[in-house]
Amino acid sequence: MPDAPKKTPASSIRKAGLSSVVIPFYNEENLIQKMLPVFQESCKKLGVDRFEIIAVDDGSRDGTINSLHEQAKNIPQLKIISFNRNFGKEAAIHAGLEHCTGDIAFVMDSDGQHPVSLMPEMLDLWEKGADVVAACKADRGNESFLSRSFANGFYAIFKFLTKIEVKNMSDYVLLDRAVVDQYTALNERRRFFRGMIAWMGFKTSKVYFDIPPRVQGSSSWSRFKLFRFALNAISGFTSTPLHLISLLAFLYAIGAVIIGSLTLFQKLTGTGVTGFTTVNILVLTTGALIMFGLGQIGIYLEQIFEELKQRPSYLINHSKSKLK
Ligand code: UDP
Ligand code: MG
Repeated sequence: MPDAPKKTPASSIRKAGLSSVVIPFYNEENLIQKMLPVFQESCKKLGVDRFEIIAVDDGSRDGTINSLHEQAKNIPQLKIISFNRNFGKEAAIHAGLEHCTGDIAFVMDSDGQHPVSLMPEMLDLWEKGADVVAACKADRGNESFLSRSFANGFYAIFKFLTKIEVKNMSDYVLLDRAVVDQYTALNERRRFFRGMIAWMGFKTSKVYFDIPPRVQGSSSWSRFKLFRFALNAISGFTSTPLHLISLLAFLYAIGAVIIGSLTLFQKLTGTGVTGFTTVNILVLTTGALIMFGLGQIGIYLEQIFEELKQRPSYLINHSKSKLK
């Protein structure tokens, strides 16, 4: 006889007293008026006791901050953090989590690409014991072939080098207070939110969603920005590429001994090649390998440099923020 479905004992159901929702905004003035009431309504419908919405203006150059303050007149639960300049989405999420006070914190994009309709299901999974509820992309939406290939390539390399799976994960998550505290206590300045949350190893449940198009405007990530983000994520997580240089150098040394012996043998037996083919190939590959190695070292030196300076990952403009 099949086992009866296990029921969660009532005692293990958690309840959130205060829920936080952290949302980064960068040049989103046109969607604020539409989206903020949507976020507020969704929080009300969640059935939590109290909630706060933490909007982080990541140094927008348009009227984002004014629109947020305009909304704060009607939404008492809205707190606003304003950065001095654009520090990037990772820093905005970090600031939001450092300033949120909820028992749980949702993190989601401002542009409607992270559907609020998932929030009840995510809360339900947290109530049943998950510390992290990650919303994963069932489909990557209307992406170009190049962007899709780039993303898949990045996920494959990241997983191969770090053994951490972030494929199809998004920055749309629900975190328990324990996760928020431990995440914000980590010292790193350059952050890869998704990767670090996965690395922390908390009990995680997943929900899946299809990415809707943006409510308004277009993505602010250029290919170059994405490439830097990918390099940063990999070098921030693993030093394996540095070891790969040594491995390459070792393989190269073996090849050099074989080719060297062969050339020497041909020279001694009078059958040496007159052309410079071998020399050319060797010079080119050596040059390429050295450049590759130096590039790798440069990437890691940059990481060390950034971390060593101990600069904060963001600076808040207090006169433009509203934290109470
Ligand atoms: N964002 C941010 N800082 C940035 C770039 C983006 O805070 O430097 C915010 C943006 O306002 C949005 C979220 O991050 O809420 C996702 O940005 P976007 O839609 O441009 O990225 P995509 O959906 O293409 O990943
Ligand atoms: Mg988006």
